[in-house]
Amino acid sequence: MEEPAIYTPPLARLIEQFQRLPGIGPKTAQRLALYVIKRPEKDVEAFAQALLNAKKQVGVCQKCFHLSATSVCDICRNPQREPDVICVVADSRDVIALEKTREYRGKYHVLGGVISPMDGIGPEQLTIQALVQRVSAEKTKEVILAINPSVEGETTTLYLAQLLRPFTKVTRIAFGLPMGGDLEYADEVTLARALEGRRELD
Ligand code: ZN
Repeated sequence: MEEPAIYTPPLARLIEQFQRLPGIGPKTAQRLALYVIKRPEKDVEAFAQALLNAKKQVGVCQKCFHLSATSVCDICRNPQREPDVICVVADSRDVIALEKTREYRGKYHVLGGVISPMDGIGPEQLTIQALVQRVSAEKTKEVILAINPSVEGETTTLYLAQLLRPFTKVTRIAFGLPMGGDLEYADEVTLARALEGRRELD
């Protein structure tokens, strides 16, 4: 005999959607779904609309590949930012982490991942060609590599250093982080120090 369903179907579907989100287990998914059901309809509508709008409107900057709702992002367009220093990161999350330090005044380049042969990700799957073009066209004075110190991160850092050294000075941030440490989870002071203590790659 089939067991009776615990949740009425629309509720079950909502719980299932929440459970697909990173870091959300079954209990939290249930709590969020029940919370949504109790909200006024206009609040739920605003929430659903925000989800859809963010998905539809946020793309990437055509220069640096950071998340942006405009074709060129605010950082690239900002005349107060140093145009000839580019900080290279794996992901937009890292741009956000570095921006929170309020120490960095240059531009960025988001790779869209790291080189990982095991996952079938080679240089051509990342925005590396666009980076090389940028560095050679914009007369970049310095490229700062700020990539998480994992095995793949190291491979990517060394690959980029070799590729970019003919065009510009290449430095890497001084991680006080352990191997496998994550830029995103470093506190702002640690990150600011890592940036300040960057050294040239040889
Ligand atoms: Zn940009």
